[in-house]
Amino acid sequence: MEKNAEDLAELLFADVVVRKIEIKEISPCTADPERIKFLAQADKPLEDILPILYLAIPNAKYSEKLGALSYMYQQHLITIFANGRISMTYVKDRNEANQLVEEARWLINRAIIYLKTHGKPSPEIVQAKKELTPVKIYEMLPKTNCKMCGEQGCFAFAAKLLNGEKTLQDCPPLDYKEHNKLKFQIEKMLSPIKLK
Ligand code: SF4
Repeated sequence: MEKNAEDLAELLFADVVVRKIEIKEISPCTADPERIKFLAQADKPLEDILPILYLAIPNAKYSEKLGALSYMYQQHLITIFANGRISMTYVKDRNEANQLVEEARWLINRAIIYLKTHGKPSPEIVQAKKELTPVKIYEMLPKTNCKMCGEQGCFAFAAKLLNGEKTLQDCPPLDYKEHNKLKFQIEKMLSPIKLK
């Protein structure tokens, strides 16, 4: 979505979008004390959009019971809670934290607008994504074990694709004409909702 179109969408839904995500607590990152992790708070509860984010972010994990969704973005583990809390790890500095918060706000607002325009996703779609396994993805890959993705074979790639360490772009054969349909189908399985 272009910047002007984005602004317009946020204006149209001004009363429901998140205006502010405030960074509340910053501490040294557990994985690397040279980096920071932080907790932030959105100005709205986010429970209703967690399933939408789950279906839009290919490597997201979601627990309704815990009211939490987490995913890897670049090297950061990002967790979004139903009450509007957001945590992020492995952040370089305050500047990067601000940038990540702004990106998260953008994504959250796209999900809010999606909810307002499309309604809640059906529990069946959410369940179908929960049931995705490396085997199911492997079955849809070219299965040539050509290693162009840098993995030992298609199954290892499928596992890494599911946990977010690889993307579909890392498998060049999926761009061959004969595999295009497969790529589209896997994409649809990993992220049935598109927010951009
Ligand atoms: S590049 Fe694609 S086809 Fe080749 S091994 Fe990796 S996943 Fe399989």
